[in-house]
Amino acid sequence: MNADRRRVRPGAPGKLGVFGGTFDPPHVGHLALAEWAREELGLDRVLFVPAGAPPHRAAPRTSAASRLALTRLAVRGNAAFAVEPMEVRRRGPSYTVDTLRALGARHPVAELWLLVGADTYASMNTWREIAAIAHIAAIAVAARPGTRLSRRAAWARGGRGVRFLGNPVLDVSSSTVRERARAGHSLRYLVPDSVAVAIAARRLYRRSA
Ligand code: ATP
Repeated sequence: MNADRRRVRPGAPGKLGVFGGTFDPPHVGHLALAEWAREELGLDRVLFVPAGAPPHRAAPRTSAASRLALTRLAVRGNAAFAVEPMEVRRRGPSYTVDTLRALGARHPVAELWLLVGADTYASMNTWREIAAIAHIAAIAVAARPGTRLSRRAAWARGGRGVRFLGNPVLDVSSSTVRERARAGHSLRYLVPDSVAVAIAARRLYRRSA
């Protein structure tokens, strides 16, 4: 047992995955990515962090409260998954660097891994304090259709490292799920059943919503 391990509080994560997203709604692509990363990287826990106000895209029409509730439903049943609401509670744009600093302070001994899809990774050079992010957390990049990457970005040099995951590519997106819901099509097997039920009950993504 090494010295770092001995300082970990019982129950505290030694390796913590941090998975940010809009989750509008969460779908099987998100869950498969998180589970793959958990296993491949040996993570003790994966925190899903729904963005309150994502700074790099148009404001979601779905409320943060609804996205948080859907994400909680989505992770239920996986003991290694949890939802972290700090970005929804924080005022202003949801900057990942703030989230990682807060999680680093809460878990000072944990090794942080930021989980992103390849499309996100390709645009992270525009993120606030990206070099600081790379110093706080190692980056795990999941394969996603439409973006082929194999090289470490310049901003990641000198950071904690970048790992390209060997996950199977799943062509599922929240946009597709929203479009299907809007058209009244089945969401079955694209989102967990509990999420599909909640989308229907809250009448989310309907034309009139
Ligand atoms: P939208 O279609 O609304 O843009 P999205 O499906 O990309 O949404 P987000 O919540 O924006 O979902 O994504 C959160 C993170 O999950 C991002 O890093 C994104 O790259 C990753 N991700 C989402 N879907 C997949 C997928 N099918 N495979 C791999 N990564 C994914």
